[in-house]
Amino acid sequence: MVTLGIDIGSTTSKAVMLKDGNEILASSIVIATVGTDGVSRAIDNVLKDSRIAQEEIGCMVATGYGRQTYQGSDFQVSELTCHALGVHHICPEVRTVIDIGGQDAKVLSLNEQGRMVNFVMNDKCAAGTGRFLDVMATILKLDISQLEVEAAKSQKPANISSTCTVFAESEVISQLASGVEIPDLVAGICQSVATRVASLARRVGLKEQVCMSGGVARNAGVRMAMARELGVTIVFDPMAQLMGALGAALYGFEKSGQQGK
Ligand code: ADP
Repeated sequence: MVTLGIDIGSTTSKAVMLKDGNEILASSIVIATVGTDGVSRAIDNVLKDSRIAQEEIGCMVATGYGRQTYQGSDFQVSELTCHALGVHHICPEVRTVIDIGGQDAKVLSLNEQGRMVNFVMNDKCAAGTGRFLDVMATILKLDISQLEVEAAKSQKPANISSTCTVFAESEVISQLASGVEIPDLVAGICQSVATRVASLARRVGLKEQVCMSGGVARNAGVRMAMARELGVTIVFDPMAQLMGALGAALYGFEKSGQQGK
């Protein structure tokens, strides 16, 4: 049976086509905000890449910030549930998931069965989210994917003391004007995100293994800063940004199985 999981985020739309609750046939990440055609493009991409016809999809599950506005899925499920399912499927030893997306950050505790037993969330403040990194990348005229490259070159990370994105923006501009090197600024920016989210992680109670999911997990600068900050190894899988969509597809498979019984 084929199930489709879609994760309609604030910044990107993701889709995962899954066969028999196990084999990933295709996946897609489309940069597009909620309310645009990003979801349809992500779905078209996975239909094409998997060579599966729309009618063959047994169950479609939507998750993410924009799931309520999308008509056409069989189920709508929270991102927390889906990230837990996705991460547990790929990394069953993980007990703490740090998910940093475009506009929020969540830390989830999982039990041995992969069920979420606790979580904390920051959805009030852009600092400690992908938005903070996007704003800073724009100021520094860098693509978001270049941040990790620049951070790796840093000898002396800059100290970004402002906790508010708007003030931190001015701080970065003034440090840039006073000659602080771009790699040091980027390393400081990655550190700032890690510091903020690490405090959320400590509140939920850190249990190893710890993994990062969401788009920001793709930034090795943030992953390394997080590992230093928490004193643990951070598990990372290339599927990190797709964990929610994968979890949605897994949820569809579980539900279909239950209905079929
Ligand atoms: P959402 O689900 O809220 O749309 P995502 O989990 O897709 O968010 O994460 C989006 C964030 O991921 C962006 O704001 C950006 O900071 C970060 N990001 C996206 N692509 C990359 C990349 N190639 N390298 C590093 N960071 C990235």
